[in-house]
Amino acid sequence: MCIFCKIVNGEIPNQTVLEDENFLAFNDINPARKVHVLIIPKEHYDSFDVMPPKVMAGMTEFIQKVASKLDVKNSGYRLITNIGDDGGQEVHHLHFHLIGGEPVGRLVR
Ligand code: 5GP
Ligand code: ZN
Repeated sequence: MCIFCKIVNGEIPNQTVLEDENFLAFNDINPARKVHVLIIPKEHYDSFDVMPPKVMAGMTEFIQKVASKLDVKNSGYRLITNIGDDGGQEVHHLHFHLIGGEPVGRLVR
């Protein structure tokens, strides 16, 4: 079982920002900026590249709620999903990074 599936099922603790039936948002263990939250579907997909498009509809709404909760709607934020080796993906469970709380610059990393 992958590390984020273990977070979903409670085997690995996390700092939850928001959760519903299908999605989970939690703080990145190694934050790149003041705000760095990972947003995942509870169901495992290896990456965005193999995610059923219909899942993205619910995920979009959930991400918008996370941004509200983090109070970054006015200041702005960046969403990133890394895909595969060239994309720099380390954890192979689809996730979006929501980064902000300060200017993030032109590149995140
Ligand atoms: P990727 O490089 O796959 O897009 O990003 C993986 C992210 O997961 C990294 O930013 C890393 O800090 C984060 N991460 C890895 N393991 C854990 C963990 O056990 N808990 C949390 N909260 N974040 C993790
Ligand atoms: Zn997984």
